[in-house]
Amino acid sequence: MKKDNCIFCKIAAGEIPSTTIYEDQDFRVILDIEPASKGHALILPKEHYANLYELSDELAAKALLVAKKVITVMTDVLGCDGYNVLQNNGEAAGQTVFHFHMHLIPRYQDDNVNIKWNPGTISEELKEEILAKIKEK
Ligand code: 5GP
Ligand code: ZN
Repeated sequence: MKKDNCIFCKIAAGEIPSTTIYEDQDFRVILDIEPASKGHALILPKEHYANLYELSDELAAKALLVAKKVITVMTDVLGCDGYNVLQNNGEAAGQTVFHFHMHLIPRYQDDNVNIKWNPGTISEELKEEILAKIKEK
């Protein structure tokens, strides 16, 4: 299903022009309009899913295969030194467009791309609490 007023539905359907670097039956991969680095791209499913929770199992599996295929070619095309593959779910996690997408961010030695967090700590109690809660599921 497509969602009205979803910009990524329109881009994925080709109704709004984009720089498409890969396309198949299920996905369009486009260059990000405000790239974190040269070649930053987004994998968009052609159907509307708000986030990874909603994505079908089949498309979730296929999305990673598309990521692998695209970063393999683009590493050669761009001559980059590494790649971040990431995707945000929910506003608290930094999601701003609520149509599932996976970021493919080429990395260059000593670039100024900032995908970092402050390392924290975890206590034995907290590990046990988490494991106990998982067991309840
Ligand atoms: P999020 O923060 O939701 O994980 O990422 C949204 C991404 O979509 C951002 O990197 C932003 O630059 C990109 N973006 C938003 N609107 C457009 C658009 O109209 N075209 C393209 N190509 N990228 C977009
Ligand atoms: Zn959509």
